[in-house]
Amino acid sequence: MIINMNEGATEDEIQHVIERVREAGFQAHVTRGTERCIVAAVGSGGKRHELEALAAAGGVAEVVPIAQPFKLVSRQVKPHRSVIEVGDVKIGDGSFAVIAGPCSVESRQQIFSTAQAVKAAGARLLRGGAYKPRTSPYDFQGLGVEALRLLSEVRKQVGLPVVTEVMSTEDAELIAEHADMLQVGARNMQNFALLRRLATVSKPVLLKRGPSATVKEWLLAAEYLLAGGNPKVVLCERGIKTFETETRNTLDLAAVALARELSHLPVMVDPSHGTGRRTLIAPTSRAAAALGADGIIVEVHPCPERALSDGAQSLDFRGFRDLMQSLAEPMRAVSIPQLRMDKAAAKS
Ligand code: PEP
Ligand code: MN
Repeated sequence: MIINMNEGATEDEIQHVIERVREAGFQAHVTRGTERCIVAAVGSGGKRHELEALAAAGGVAEVVPIAQPFKLVSRQVKPHRSVIEVGDVKIGDGSFAVIAGPCSVESRQQIFSTAQAVKAAGARLLRGGAYKPRTSPYDFQGLGVEALRLLSEVRKQVGLPVVTEVMSTEDAELIAEHADMLQVGARNMQNFALLRRLATVSKPVLLKRGPSATVKEWLLAAEYLLAGGNPKVVLCERGIKTFETETRNTLDLAAVALARELSHLPVMVDPSHGTGRRTLIAPTSRAAAALGADGIIVEVHPCPERALSDGAQSLDFRGFRDLMQSLAEPMRAVSIPQLRMDKAAAKS
């Protein structure tokens, strides 16, 4: 349930509502907007009728049910958009954040040269897999701890915040020490033990959409993180499984717009895994910018033909520079009207 406070509600009235929500057996999550305060009562097993009775309490405008199964993630609970800070980079502030780097960290030379090249071309964050979720156990599985150390070094020397994937609860602590943002890969979107663990770390999480997950399931996966105490979540559409085989996955751009409509969390797009084809990265990235996505995550390798994973969808340095140039115009064109639309939606 949501308890919408009046514009002029006093701090005492808000505190009273929070206490009553807790007494009724729910958690109280408070969102303070510029004009109004919203208290969301979430959890199971509490006494609903006690929440409904709060309609008569001082400072309360209305008590309404939360329409969606996801609660803290929904725009009903938090109408204005969340901005997630990763190191010194803000995701969701109306700019278009570009995360770039190799699918896997393969060597010192490979990760350093890629970090320098993508930074020079305008990327704001570096990606690089240390622990890789591979379909075949015979494929390259990542350099593990050695890759984490390289990512830490490159972060310090090149000055880009680092994003890397966490596949298991056991690695969470170590990876959180080395990385600025933890990626939950598509295959682990509904690994609930992992989500519960990452809800307790202080680092932001990039939550990829599962290849067969509905938008609702994706947002419920994000709810695990928020409900468990980590509000720093960025969603990422990376393509879903369909009958089409010409592309590796089907990039569901409508889901990006829908997720931004239903949720206040930033939504990014992964055109590399979403298409599996280098030639489709620029057009789909421009489409992502045009529909208001909060950024992209792109695979870049010094020599894609030698990449140990995902070479076919990786751009070389020149390809990445070209991509960034082709994005300059859509990025400029979109960010201002998008911000205006978001502000208007938050007010309504
Ligand atoms: C990746 O980012 O390299 C990756 C494996 O992504 P996904 O989980 O989307 O397949
Ligand atoms: Mn990859």
